Order: sequence, then C-alpha cells, then structure tokens
Amino acid sequence: MIKQYIPNIKQLLATPKKIVIVPHKNPDGDAIGSTLGLFHYLKKYNHNVSVITPNDYPNFLKWIPGESVILKHDSQTKQCETLIAEADIIFTLDFNAFHRTGNMEPILANSSALKIMIDHHQAPDDYATYMYSDVSMSSTCEMVYHFIDMLGHLNSIDANIATCLYTGIMTDTGSFRFSSTTSTTHNVVATLIEKGANNSQIHNNVYDTNSYNRLQLLGCALNNLKIVPEYKAAYITLSQEDLNKYNYTKGDTEGVVNYGLSLDGIVLAAIFIEDKQEGIIKISLRSKGNFSVNEMSRAHFDGGGHTNAAGGKSYLPLKDTVEKFISILPEYNKALNNA
Ligand code: 5GP
Ligand code: MN
Repeated sequence: MIKQYIPNIKQLLATPKKIVIVPHKNPDGDAIGSTLGLFHYLKKYNHNVSVITPNDYPNFLKWIPGESVILKHDSQTKQCETLIAEADIIFTLDFNAFHRTGNMEPILANSSALKIMIDHHQAPDDYATYMYSDVSMSSTCEMVYHFIDMLGHLNSIDANIATCLYTGIMTDTGSFRFSSTTSTTHNVVATLIEKGANNSQIHNNVYDTNSYNRLQLLGCALNNLKIVPEYKAAYITLSQEDLNKYNYTKGDTEGVVNYGLSLDGIVLAAIFIEDKQEGIIKISLRSKGNFSVNEMSRAHFDGGGHTNAAGGKSYLPLKDTVEKFISILPEYNKALNNA
C-alpha cells in the first residue's frame, strides 16, 4: 500500500522540511526506538526534526541515542505546540488513532501538517496522507527499517539508527519470541548488528538495570497472581497502595503481565493496575495462540492493540474491574478452551 506513495514521499523529503515525530502516550521501547531511529535518519537529510512524546517514559529507555532531544508535551507544552503549529510534516509512529496520544489528540487533529503514519496496530484511523500500516509487523521499528529500505537508503543506517531500531524490535517481540517475529525480523536484526547495534549491551541496558524496589514490586505482583483454570485465565492486581509501598516509578510494571502467561496451560493473562491520579485501572492483556485480546479489550475495556497483546482501561474500582473481567470470561469459553 505504502509502496505506491514512495515516489511522492521521496519528492516530499527531497528538500529540507520542518518535521515533528510523535509516538503514543506512555511510550514503550518500540515507540521511543522508532521515533529516534527515524529522527537520526531524517537529520542526515538536513531536515529540521523534533521528537515530541505526550509524556515521560521509563528510565530503562533513557540511554537510547538521541533520547535527550525528546520534548514532552505534558511538561513542555508551549514549545511542543509551537513546533507542531509550524511543522510541514508530522510522522505519527506506533499508534493507530489520535486519542492514543492523550492530551495531544486535539492538537494533532487540528494541525494542517501533512501526516505520515507508520504503525502495526489493528484498525487504524485514516487521518494520514501517507499511511504505512501493517498489522503483521513485529514492531514499528521493523517498519521504519523497511521504510528506509523502500526509500533506497539502507546505506544511511549507522550505529545510532541501528541501536534505536534494534531496541524497539527487541522489546516489542519479547526478545524475539512472540509469533510476530519472522525470518525477515531476524534478517533485519542481523543487519542492524552488522551496522553497529551492540545487541548484548542493549539487552543489558533495558533488562538488567532494575532497582531493588522494582523486584520487590514484582514479588508483590506474583503474590497477588490468581488463576481461573476453567477459562485458562490468570490475572494480577496491583493497588495504588502496593505501588506506593515499593516506590513505584514509570516502567516498573512493564512486562509483569507476562508472568501470568508463563503458567503452563494459561491462554489469557491480565494485569489490573490502579492509578488513583488518573482515576482509572490500567489494564494489560496478553494471550497465546489465536485468542484475540484486541477484540476483548475493544469490546469491554475501552482499548485495543494486537491479537496477543492489548491494553485498555476501566473507570470502576479495582475490585469491580476484576469482577467484571471474571464475569465476561464465560462469553469467551469456547475461544479460550480451543485456543
Ligand atoms: P500494554 O498492555 O503494554 O500497555 O499494551 C499492549 C499493546 O496494546 C501495545 O501495542 C499498545 O500500544 C496497545 N494498546 C495499549 N492500550 C491501548 C488502547 O487503549 N488502545 C489501543 N488501540 N491499543 C492499545
Ligand atoms: Mn509497537
């Protein structure tokens, strides 16, 4: 689909432009890796490029090359909005609808800049002039690699770009183990290592920089883990009190939901995290096989994502949210027991 527009995009990028790159709210490794990878690439062609995230991101991502240039809309609102108002082009990366950027939604919706979407989430909105959407892709970082390839510029991938893109492919594939990981993904990753991504250092930076509190919080989460064997489901709760007790900081709960899915025979795993400040329960859902947590989240939890990984939220109290989750399981009895 995007291929037919590549000549237009080449033409568009042939002269220096004012460009803003935006990922989704609560950016993860793929969101930060893809935006910074694209940032370094576009800088090479003399564009004036800014990366604006809706809000802050975890410390384990605060080493990625170029990370210090990132502007945060929630704390640097004026500067961000001026850049967006003056932008010729806005790249929207790793999300499928403006509401995924939280408070940036109206600013993006009202902007007259040309939009280019690069994303792998299901059911994308059609706000973009040029839309590169592919739900079969492992990550937006892999798509940025293919995007650079389609523009005929693989030679411009240097160690910085390679490091950014490797990071997001690694985090979005659960270190190359989710079913979205293809032989093409591995070929891309191999090329990124050849181009200077230090794979073992990147794994260390992301996964081996835990605080003691974070591991204690993980212990608390595992203590709270419950299973519903008749529906092959497992869930974890973390109350605001639990989070406070272990001095929660952003990113501390990342990946915890996967422990539920690591249980033998479990097909569906959920985590419910209380956020008193936002007045919501943040929900992450994960699944094995063809059970679609994207559909479950769209139908019941005001969210979405991918077949095997989705997010959502609930405005009910924690206890009621869990009760709601348990009460909808019979609806999915067949799918869960045949997944
Ligand atoms: P997480 O559980 O890690 O927050 O999200 C899992 C996946 O679902 C990620 O790819 C994330 O971008 C996506 N996701 C999370 N929340 C939402 C949401 O509210 N709507 C949609 N469409 N996708 C979401
Ligand atoms: Mn992603």
